[in-house]
Amino acid sequence: NDITTKEIREKFLNYFETNKHKRLPSSSLIPHNDSTLLFTNAGMVQFKNQFTGLEESKYKLVTTSQKCVRAGGKHNDLENVGYTARHHTFFEMLGNFSFGGYNHFKRDSIQHAWNLLTKDFGLPKERLAISVLEGDEESASIWRDQIGLSNDKIMYLGKKDNFWSMGDGPGPCGPCSEIFWDHGEGKEVDGERFLEIWNLVFMQYNRNEKGELEKLAMPCVDTGMGLERMATVLQGKTTNYDIDLFQNLINSFKEQVMIDPTKASHIIKQDPQRVEVAYRVIIDHLRSISFLISDGVIPFNIGRGYVLRKIIRRALSYGKLLGFEGPFLYQLFSILEHEMADTFPQLRERSNEIKNVLLNEETTFYKAIKRGIPYLEEMIDRGQLNEDNLFLLYNTYGLPLEISEVKAKQNNIEIDMEKVANLVDETRNQSRATWKSNESQPNTNNPLDEVKKWKNDNISPKFIGYETTLN
Ligand code: ATP
Ligand code: MG
Ligand code: MG
Ligand code: MG
Repeated sequence: NDITTKEIREKFLNYFETNKHKRLPSSSLIPHNDSTLLFTNAGMVQFKNQFTGLEESKYKLVTTSQKCVRAGGKHNDLENVGYTARHHTFFEMLGNFSFGGYNHFKRDSIQHAWNLLTKDFGLPKERLAISVLEGDEESASIWRDQIGLSNDKIMYLGKKDNFWSMGDGPGPCGPCSEIFWDHGEGKEVDGERFLEIWNLVFMQYNRNEKGELEKLAMPCVDTGMGLERMATVLQGKTTNYDIDLFQNLINSFKEQVMIDPTKASHIIKQDPQRVEVAYRVIIDHLRSISFLISDGVIPFNIGRGYVLRKIIRRALSYGKLLGFEGPFLYQLFSILEHEMADTFPQLRERSNEIKNVLLNEETTFYKAIKRGIPYLEEMIDRGQLNEDNLFLLYNTYGLPLEISEVKAKQNNIEIDMEKVANLVDETRNQSRATWKSNESQPNTNNPLDEVKKWKNDNISPKFIGYETTLN
């Protein structure tokens, strides 16, 4: 009888509570008072000002299970979902935090982590390995001399992996030490033998507005353990999607929301493995979408709302592969509500709102792609899908870039999305330039004059690029 995800969450919080940590609720996915950060992407976000000393913490030791979204910004995992076994857009990060509350910040946090993993969770020591920042001999010696790890269990990694910061801008940061689960030799998952489960960050610095590191007056600790990854380990699974929580969601999806298999895309029919991937991506995205809406984000053209829209569209394009031809996410929401509302009552409280927002967004989306999809498919069949054509579909038919991107990927067509994004930017700048040039001296050689003329005559230019690029 495996320990459930729910029990793991409780056991973690309870361990730290009995060790003098105050249990606090998760904060919103919209970071409070922080315009530098898109979404809450770690447990430490709500305590940012306590680390830097800007605000005094009511408690010196704290423990939380924090809702996180990593889709956009510094820690962006959107494109990983569907391709790795361990990344989600939405996940829960379990953590313990010290604002000068440990006698020795590194030793005490390492000790707690090791105790919890090996005693309370009962993981075999020989299956755990750790990493420290190159040069952080202090941490390495704690692992070696006080925990008793042999040298072959300690990896020294560079700043890219073992120096943690929330974003690229100002904020608290520091060296970290990470704990990995060893799948075993020859049992690699996604080509990797070691699964990162817990990150212990030793918050020693604040990066200031100029980008310089300032030493914090009080060394702090911030740790983060992925709940779903921990469940993977404790339930003896290889991917996060095999744990109880995801299996419940995926199975209900399969049982309750009807798909017409004759409508599934030919890609899916050729490769049944992809059916499972599609289910996983949709369920993952359903979680981030629903939690974002329940925290007050709504789909929009820019900013947080745009990222939400992007996630919804990505989910819908995977739905398209399965054969959905109309709105379905709003129906799926009840499955999530059933599975998670006991832990997160906000899902129940805002249930109607979430479903309405979804239905609205889905309806708009299907209208837009109805026009563009036939052209996209034709391009793929003719082997002519490239950055320029993908942009044309977007610009002319309003076909969401995400749809084309996913389709391209699934047909093994390499598309440089950055190049496409540049094309989009260029058009935006061009139309801005057009408006500006109205005020300047007429320039007969300016290609934008043609556009200006159209504008003045109040006619919109007819698009002819499609035929010319196809032939
Ligand atoms: P990875 O290297 O696997 O991408 P990370 O180093 O980016 O993970 P951290 O920023 O250290 O992750 O976050 C702390 C912990 O949160 C990780 O050790 C992991 O258990 C969990 N975690 C991070 N990103 C995700 C994600 N996208 N989905 C699920 N769990 C995650
Ligand atoms: Mg990562
Ligand atoms: Mg990592
Ligand atoms: Mg990490």
